[in-house]
Amino acid sequence: MNPSIDQIKEAIGDMFFRQPPPVKRTYSNGVDPFCKCCNKDTFDDNRDYYMVRDEVWFQIMPTKKGMLCMDCLETKLGRKLTAADLTLCPLNMDPLPIGNQYTRQLLLDSGVILPDGAVILAEYEKLFIHG
Ligand SMILES: [Zn+2]
Repeated sequence: MNPSIDQIKEAIGDMFFRQPPPVKRTYSNGVDPFCKCCNKDTFDDNRDYYMVRDEVWFQIMPTKKGMLCMDCLETKLGRKLTAADLTLCPLNMDPLPIGNQYTRQLLLDSGVILPDGAVILAEYEKLFIHG
């Protein structure tokens, strides 16, 4: 015997009208993309996806695990990011939209990379010699 509509409504009514809980996006690769400071999803905006040198990261974070969005990184550092803070990984210099155009511009402005993507290591080394 099939249940009546009223019986179904009575059984699932609460589920039916309840608002779903806010969904926090999850990623299957085990990476936690959410900023440890403000909880922003760092995968939403390429400006928030970058690599800094370990010496820079460990000034403000106790472990390599986790992400900081660019705003929180610069707030914690107490200054704007510079080319000398960055690693020379493709993420920081890719001209395609997948790359971080903020870090790419820092590397371009300092002469570490050229618009065609060439890396000028001598310019990168100068950043550390002269501060
Ligand atoms: Zn943040």
